[in-house]
Amino acid sequence: MDFEYSDAEQAFRKEFRDWLASSLPADLCLDDPADDRVASDRETFERRRQWQKAMHAAGWVGITWPPEYGGRGSGLIERVIWDEEYQAARAPVLPGQMGLSLVGPTIIHWGTDEQKRRHLPAILAADEVWCQGFSEPGAGSDLASLRTRAVDRGDHFVVNGQKVWTSGAQYAHWIILLVRTDLDAPKHRGISCLLVDIKTPGVSVRPLVLMTGHHHFNEVFFSDVVVPKANLLGPVNQGWKVSTTTLMHERHSSGARNPIGQVTALIALARRLPRGAGTAWDDPRVRQRLAQLVIECETLKYTRLRSLTRQLRGEPPGPEGSVLKLTGSELGVRISDAAGELLGVHALLNEGTETVPDAPRWFNRVLAARQYTIAAGTSEIQRNIIGERVLGLPKD
Ligand SMILES: Cc1cc2nc3c(=O)[nH]c(=O)nc-3n(C[C@H](O)[C@H](O)[C@H](O)COP(=O)(O)OP(=O)(O)OC[C@H]3O[C@@H](n4cnc5c(N)ncnc54)[C@H](O)[C@@H]3O)c2cc1C
Repeated sequence: MDFEYSDAEQAFRKEFRDWLASSLPADLCLDDPADDRVASDRETFERRRQWQKAMHAAGWVGITWPPEYGGRGSGLIERVIWDEEYQAARAPVLPGQMGLSLVGPTIIHWGTDEQKRRHLPAILAADEVWCQGFSEPGAGSDLASLRTRAVDRGDHFVVNGQKVWTSGAQYAHWIILLVRTDLDAPKHRGISCLLVDIKTPGVSVRPLVLMTGHHHFNEVFFSDVVVPKANLLGPVNQGWKVSTTTLMHERHSSGARNPIGQVTALIALARRLPRGAGTAWDDPRVRQRLAQLVIECETLKYTRLRSLTRQLRGEPPGPEGSVLKLTGSELGVRISDAAGELLGVHALLNEGTETVPDAPRWFNRVLAARQYTIAAGTSEIQRNIIGERVLGLPKD
């Protein structure tokens, strides 16, 4: 593993850092952007969309996308540098993130020329914001059990059914949808993938609100929705393979963030939180716990670097790839547990106080961290994957 950056990579870092310093509006910055991935209101969403447009105009969106599709065509290292600098600047998650990380790469892999021409430039420019319509009330971990139905009517499909937990659907223009097209085939072989304009008559989006009060995801209902055949992504009944491309990108991007910034903020909090005659930091058990979290962030960092090294060598994903999502999200929960215990009742305040000026970030973290061990595949499912595919253990 080579820890040194080349001159060109360092120049790339400096150029992006300088550009962010001069271009990122301060009022868009957040203490913890990961906990606010979907804008809390339309005005914030629109301001973030303008921000993505500004980034795109300056060539900072779609870093690893091929140039023929409007991307920068840079390598993985530049992508990692991009992530590090973007996080360090506390910039908001781009509103088109779902399109940039999941839908765009899936269209690049499976799309027709017309689909690529139609959607890829619009995804980069935030003219099209996408959401992901995979999960259903009876199909989450066991996604292949999905029942939303698409009936072939010659030049179009008619879709009926329901999706759930659809993040950001309230702002999305398009939804990438898994539907059942063959009722008689084995369940993995009767699924197709459709690209659906969310404004099509018969699509309705209903909010689901988190216990933080944040409207993050939605139920999406389909009632006799007409979808042209031209919007089929990949071959009919091959949607499972298409979704595998999307999920591979999703799991990869879910493990991308390192929570060291949260632990650093927790240390700062412990240093000022009154406890007895001093602060929480005076308690060796608190320091021990925080030190343990720092160690776990470091191990996560090196696991990620090992995974990156493999990718750069063109080798297939190894065990470290499989453990990244699991350990990253579980560590997120341990950090949130430590924050909750440190803060006590202060964790329930959603407004800054003299004692805890950054109370909202901890309120959100403590109440919302559990979602990361569910989204993009639960921890139990990740453990099954590691057990069966990495360690080769028997299935039952
Ligand atoms: C924040 C967030 C955002 C999301 N955004 C989207 C989105 O935009 N689009 C979308 O399509 N979906 C989205 N989801 C849904 C997500 O993909 C599902 O919640 C997830 O796949 C789990 O499915 P489920 O909720 O139906 O739980 P279930 O699959 O019903 O699981 C319930 C419990 O049983 C356990 N379990 C299930 N099967 C097994 C097994 N074989 N072995 C051991 N344990 C098992 C699970 O681990 C879990 O603890 C989102 C979820 C979250 C939390």
